[in-house]
Amino acid sequence: RKEGNTYVKLDSSLRSPVCCVLGHVDAGKTSILDRIRRSRVAAGEAGGITQQIAATLVSIEDIAAETVSINRSHNFTLKIPGILVIDTPGHESFSNLRTRGSTLCDVAILVVDIHSGLQMQTIESIKLLQSKRAPFVIALNKVDRVYGWKSVTNSPFKDSLKVQTEEVVQEFEKKMEAVIAELAMQQVNAVPYYKNKDFRKCPAIVPTSAVTGEGIPDLLLLLPLLSQKFLSDRITKRDAVECNVLEVKVQDGVGSTLDVLLLNGSLNRGDKIMLCTLNGAVTTKIQTILESSNMKSASGVQRIEGAIGARLICKGAEKTLAGTELHVIGPKTNEVELKKKVEAELETATSYLSSG
Ligand code: GDP
Repeated sequence: RKEGNTYVKLDSSLRSPVCCVLGHVDAGKTSILDRIRRSRVAAGEAGGITQQIAATLVSIEDIAAETVSINRSHNFTLKIPGILVIDTPGHESFSNLRTRGSTLCDVAILVVDIHSGLQMQTIESIKLLQSKRAPFVIALNKVDRVYGWKSVTNSPFKDSLKVQTEEVVQEFEKKMEAVIAELAMQQVNAVPYYKNKDFRKCPAIVPTSAVTGEGIPDLLLLLPLLSQKFLSDRITKRDAVECNVLEVKVQDGVGSTLDVLLLNGSLNRGDKIMLCTLNGAVTTKIQTILESSNMKSASGVQRIEGAIGARLICKGAEKTLAGTELHVIGPKTNEVELKKKVEAELETATSYLSSG
């Protein structure tokens, strides 16, 4: 199906990659996240009052619409169903949330303030990404604050650069070069994405402004591009349920809710599940499944398929530990064995918590 000039041709064997946003405080992580989710929020949740689920699916149709202006010449085919962005602090999603021993995040955005360069948490984030061998792009943020910058709202970065005076371009390049030098000291060979010839070895820099939206189309196109090119095995759908609890909340009049990330497989209303709680393994049922696209319908949906974020209402779930796995109990499940596994998980999780 054609969306403007961006070609969408879904490959049903692929799931959406999970993306998280890392970086130093105030670099613009939340603002970038909001920008990425903007089209969806505007389309689905007028007023935006509904509390966001901790993992939001940005659909490929939205990405196609937002990237028309930049994909015109490249004609890159979009095959994945979307990008699932996680809203929890990046460090937790990486260090604590694990599924089958690997990290939950498939790809990351490292946000760096072009004026501040690398800061303490930027360096911590880089170490984390390097240790997990996670592919990432660098959003070199706040370009709109380069002295004399003329903003072109929501435009691809190269179109913005064209309207700047020579002095402004020089100033921008000087600042970018300084950050590139700092990144090199951390063994990161970063290259502006429009000059990058080897995306596997060299993380791409995308200059952005979360305030004016410049460079956001570039970022939105690069994420599927990298995922399709380098992660196709990893994002091939699997039948077995892989589901992690991102956040636990108690909602007035509703009871305990779990924001989960269903990576693979499916969940159904009424499924019997086992959770890892502070009081040990708890067996309960999924009463309601709320999806971000229909948060207002009290009955929710019958079934969801990975990869997706959802909010589950379940009795007895209030002590569930964020970061642990949600297990579905099927007719063939050995509950005694599963309980042992969950209790071992509790031990790991609590020792992690007590070690700070
Ligand atoms: P976080 O702590 O990394 O999540 O950063 P925030 O997204 O909360 O942003 C910190 C501050 O920087 C806020 O006041 C934002 O409005 C501002 N900010 C974020 N991105 C940009 C940008 O691209 N340009 C400008 N001028 N300000 C930005």
